[in-house]
Amino acid sequence: MTEDSSDPDITDSTTDVTEPAWPPPADPPPPPPPAPDPITWEPQTWYSITFACLTPGCSQQNIVKAAPMFYSNNGQLKFIRVVCAADGCCGKDCTILTAQKLDPQPIEE
Ligand SMILES: [Zn+2]
Repeated sequence: MTEDSSDPDITDSTTDVTEPAWPPPADPPPPPPPAPDPITWEPQTWYSITFACLTPGCSQQNIVKAAPMFYSNNGQLKFIRVVCAADGCCGKDCTILTAQKLDPQPIEE
């Protein structure tokens, strides 16, 4: 119960081909999401997370996205990263806003 996910505009927009072939004007980024609460990561654990790129000027700036399956690796923050990797994005680390431990945990091979 952390984020209101009723916004229909979060989905990937790259499949929209109805626009004419000119670059649309850049929309200003949405307001930044609230500062995340500290997240306690357990090692070797799957989470459902939300995250956003906060890099000024990035086309994905402040756009909150969700990842339903995110692995914590060894639980150390330097290994818990989401890279901003969509087309034309900054390629820097996104900020993880929320994380909810999956219950039950997925079975691994
Ligand atoms: Zn970015």
